[in-house]
Amino acid sequence: MRGTDGTWNFTAGVNTTPQLKDGKAKLIMEATSNGLLRKKARWERELTVVTKPPIVSVDADQHYLYLGMADLTTFNVSGFWTEAGVRVGDQTFRAWPMPGGKPGLFSLFAFAWNMPPSTVPLVYASYGTGNDVTTPIVFRFPKKEQPIYTVHALQISDQFMQKVIGELDPNGSGDPVARFVKINSEMRRANNKVLSDLRLKTADRFLWSEPFLRQSHSQAESSFADTRNYIYKGNKIDRQVHLGYDLAVTQHVGVEASNDGRVVYAAPLGIYGNCIVVDHGYGLQTIYGHLSQINVHEGDMVKRGQVMGTSGQTGMAGGDHIHFGMQLDGVQIDPKEWWDSHWINDHIAKRVDLPGFNK
Ligand SMILES: [Zn+2]
Repeated sequence: MRGTDGTWNFTAGVNTTPQLKDGKAKLIMEATSNGLLRKKARWERELTVVTKPPIVSVDADQHYLYLGMADLTTFNVSGFWTEAGVRVGDQTFRAWPMPGGKPGLFSLFAFAWNMPPSTVPLVYASYGTGNDVTTPIVFRFPKKEQPIYTVHALQISDQFMQKVIGELDPNGSGDPVARFVKINSEMRRANNKVLSDLRLKTADRFLWSEPFLRQSHSQAESSFADTRNYIYKGNKIDRQVHLGYDLAVTQHVGVEASNDGRVVYAAPLGIYGNCIVVDHGYGLQTIYGHLSQINVHEGDMVKRGQVMGTSGQTGMAGGDHIHFGMQLDGVQIDPKEWWDSHWINDHIAKRVDLPGFNK
C-alpha cells in the first residue's frame, strides 16, 4: 500500500503467503522505473520466518542445586527454534536430543561455584537473535547444605618462585614477584579459557557407563574451589581459586583415566603443566595436570583406569601430584558427585538412558 510520503508498506505472513515455512528466508524487493531506460533496482535481506514461536515444557522434577555441582533436566520444545538449552546466569549449557531415540531434549548443566545463589536456572529456546522463550526449572537450593569453601595461606618460597618463572616465563625479566603474579593470574585465566573452549570438542553421546574413578590410592591435598592466598616473605601477593583436586600418591605414579572417553588435549598448558583432557560426551570432560610425561595423543580413545602418563610437578606445582579437574560445557565443576554411583543413578541414569550403567 502506498503511503502519502512515497513509502510502501507490505504485510508478509501466513495470511497473505500461506506457503511460508519456518526457517531462513529472503525478502527481495525489485523496482523498475517507468522511464524509457526501465532501470531496475533490487534489494534483499536475509530473515527468519517464525510462524510458531517455541513453547518450552520442562520436567516436573525437583532439582536440588549446590554450588559447583551439576544436574540434568529433560524438556520438550515445540514450534520453531534454532537453539535450546539451560541458562544459569550468564552461562549456557547445550540441549541434546534424548539418547536412545526417545522424544525430547536434555541438558547437563552446572550451578557454578561462584554463581550468585539467587540465580534461577532457565530452560530456553531461541528463535533468532535476541528472541528467547524461557521457563524456569523447578529447583531447591538448600542453604544449609551448600559446600563451604575454605581459605588457605600458601607460603611461596624463593625456590618455588624461581621454578615457576623459569619454567613458565623463561625469556621474561624484571621483578620476580610481578612475573609470578602475572603467571598466576593472567596465564591462569588464558589456560582456563583454552580448557573451556574444549567444550566444542565433545561427543553427542555418553562415552562412559560406570562411575568416574578417583586416582587409585590418592590423598587429596586440596579440594574444589578453595581460595589460596599466596604469601611471599610475609606479604600477600596474590589470591586465586583452585578449581580441582590435588591428588598425591607417590612420585611418578601412572595417571589413570577417570572414565572411558576420548583424549581432546594432550600437551603443555601453562600453569597446568603437561596436561591431558578427556572428553566423556555431552560436554563432560576431565582434566589432568602437572604430568612429567604424557603417553596419549589427541584423538585417542581411553578406557576407565587406563594409564595415560606419569605424574610430576610441571607448571604451577610445588610437589609431585595430579591436578584433577572436571568441566561441564566449559564450566569447571566439583568432580566428587561423579565418583558416586548413587548420585549418577539419581541425577543421570533415572532421567536419561545411560546404557550399561548399573548402580
Ligand atoms: Zn591443583
